[in-house]
Amino acid sequence: MFDDLITKTSDLLLASRYAVALTGAGISTESGIPDFRGPSGIWTKNPQAEKIAYKKYGQFLSDPAGYWSEALEAESLLGNLEGTAPNAGHYALAEMESLGFIKCVITQNIDNLHIKAGTRNVIEYHGNVFKIRCISCNRRYAKSEIDLERLKNEKSLPPLCRYCNGILKSDIVHFEEPIPEDVIRQSLQHVMRCDLMLICGTSALVYPFAELPTIARFGSRYFDSELSAAEYSYHPKPSVKIVEINKEPTTLTLQGISDYIIIGKTGEVLPKILEQIKTRRHGV
Ligand code: NAD
Repeated sequence: MFDDLITKTSDLLLASRYAVALTGAGISTESGIPDFRGPSGIWTKNPQAEKIAYKKYGQFLSDPAGYWSEALEAESLLGNLEGTAPNAGHYALAEMESLGFIKCVITQNIDNLHIKAGTRNVIEYHGNVFKIRCISCNRRYAKSEIDLERLKNEKSLPPLCRYCNGILKSDIVHFEEPIPEDVIRQSLQHVMRCDLMLICGTSALVYPFAELPTIARFGSRYFDSELSAAEYSYHPKPSVKIVEINKEPTTLTLQGISDYIIIGKTGEVLPKILEQIKTRRHGV
């Protein structure tokens, strides 16, 4: 069964014209970064940490200088991500892109590992922990470009944008913070166009990211305000295939948004799919 699904997914990739991959925290657990909602996830083990995380964006809006002072002191929930390295799942997606089989990776992860693995077209839906973003013009800066410690010592926090003087915040999208407009636009362009979506290691519980598979499934009808969910869901796009790779079924599996799920680790399943498309791409 498992092997059949690997072959079926390789067939779909070989036949696809515009495949995209969506990823979540699950693809990085094999790099030693915990997820949030898996059995050993951060929220699963420490629900209080989730409640605190919900307050971050409000704190930034009401007191950006205090937000930055605290951020400079606090330890990241995910630990020190500087030394983390991509795993076989990240590398498999990067190679699928370089061979032309997937057009982009849209990730919820903030850990920079798809970029480290060599994927060129990465949309970081929830930002990147190593970047800082202007909340007015969305310009991103590498964290190393801004001397936050100096600004703190000079009591000049929050940092300001060199281009528009807007306030800078961490590029990470906090709970209740809107997704940056450029990210929404680019993601929708890919999702509306895709004929194959690989969804790797996400519980698909965080919105609006979790809507992307449903948008792929129902296309523009999803946005038709005249139609109820029951009405638009009578018209799935049969030309779109949606495949999940996850250690456990998700809401997308249970609601039938995905066509099927391959139960397994992304670091094991994705390299097997890659191996098959490489051997069979020239009709071998
Ligand atoms: P999640 O924790 O809600 O779900 C992770 C899913 O992946 C679970 O269903 C889990 O069973 C599965 N999983 C775990 N390891 C796996 C593996 N090796 N192979 C296949 N499946 C595996 O994560 P989410 O859906 O991405 O949502 C969490 C939010 O937290 C995201 O918005 C993300 O921004 C953030 N986050 C990011 C990181 C990171 O950057 N690495 C880590 C934790 C959380």
